[in-house]
Amino acid sequence: MIVQKLVCGCGWEGPPEMRYTCPECGDSLDVRYDYDTVDVAALDRALDTFRGVWDFHMLLPLREKKHILSLQEGGTPLVPTRQTLGRNVLWKDETRNPTLSFKDRPNTVGISVARELGYSSVSIASTGNGAASLAAYAARGGMECHICVPESTPGEKLLHPVSCGAEVILCLGEYSDAYHLGRELSERQGWANLTSTYLNPYTLEGDKTIAYELFAQCGRQVPDWIAVPLGAGPMLTGIYKGFWELQRLGFCDRLPRMIGVQAEGCAPIVRAWQQGHDTVEPWPGCNTLCGAIADSLTGYARDGTRTLATIRRSGGVGVAVSDTEALEALGSLALWDGILAEPASATAAAAIARLCREGIIRPGETAVGIITAHGLKDAACLETHRKEVSGQ
Ligand SMILES: *Cc1c(COP(=O)(O)O)cnc(C)c1O
Repeated sequence: MIVQKLVCGCGWEGPPEMRYTCPECGDSLDVRYDYDTVDVAALDRALDTFRGVWDFHMLLPLREKKHILSLQEGGTPLVPTRQTLGRNVLWKDETRNPTLSFKDRPNTVGISVARELGYSSVSIASTGNGAASLAAYAARGGMECHICVPESTPGEKLLHPVSCGAEVILCLGEYSDAYHLGRELSERQGWANLTSTYLNPYTLEGDKTIAYELFAQCGRQVPDWIAVPLGAGPMLTGIYKGFWELQRLGFCDRLPRMIGVQAEGCAPIVRAWQQGHDTVEPWPGCNTLCGAIADSLTGYARDGTRTLATIRRSGGVGVAVSDTEALEALGSLALWDGILAEPASATAAAAIARLCREGIIRPGETAVGIITAHGLKDAACLETHRKEVSGQ
């Protein structure tokens, strides 16, 4: 609804069309607004009264409200933990979205923009949650949906897309293989590609609404730390962008420190952070129970580099947690706080627990963990590890 363009870190700028990479350097793109024209009074009101993503339309990249395709996503609870971590720790419960993961935020924005630009077919390469989400939106909008998922995707995650009539393309290999196949097919067929990396610049705009909600729910304060499980990392960068915008518009005067969390068996971004590198290298042969964040970044490691840069700029940290730690955290989330998360989501809680123990998150500080998706999306995994999860 406001003036915008697509920009690249190399300096290229272009009009807001469906474009996935910079024509000059091939890097991913970012949506830029003219912040001087933002209706700040409307944003101020929305921070008091929001119920979901589209209440923040004044900072979202859609020209006309009639193109909004929504399932009433966002507006999720922020709950303090009952676990004794010695710090002010809160969970942003994204399991409460229409298709049980935060992916409804990037998808509602991405598919609405696609519709506004005249597309009737959408696609996504996904480890499952993004696919379940997009299929639901496409069904609601009467659009065609094609999903590329790795063969290891849990059956529960395919129930939603299959039921919603999406075309399921099962790919041999890992997530990166699905990414490349999805890109090739989408280009050839003319589908709007909403793959949940940085590929589609509009989807990150949905991720950033988590920041507006957190700011409002913390009493218009900025949390000291925010822990985010990483695939390629657009959610982490989106949340940071949301706070940056709030600062740019005069609502706050500082930014949170971002904790990027990966599984030990697939940690390309965290490894680069630990080794002090400026660029991320792929991690072929991912091996972890945390399937939703198992992204080796093969062929698009520069996406990881963009996430690494956000973590560094924020003064944040990278944390890799073991599958055992993730399952323990999953158990504690359920036992103490009544939230059933999937293993990938529990990594955020595991990272916060560890950083509190190590004193990196200090007494008196506030830390938020993004609980990205519901445990029933990977029920077979929970059943297999029932003992560890229940602590018996
Ligand atoms: C997609 C996903 C992530 C990672 O988000 P990105 O923005 O792709 O980095 C984390 N947790 C869950 C459950 C996911 O589905």
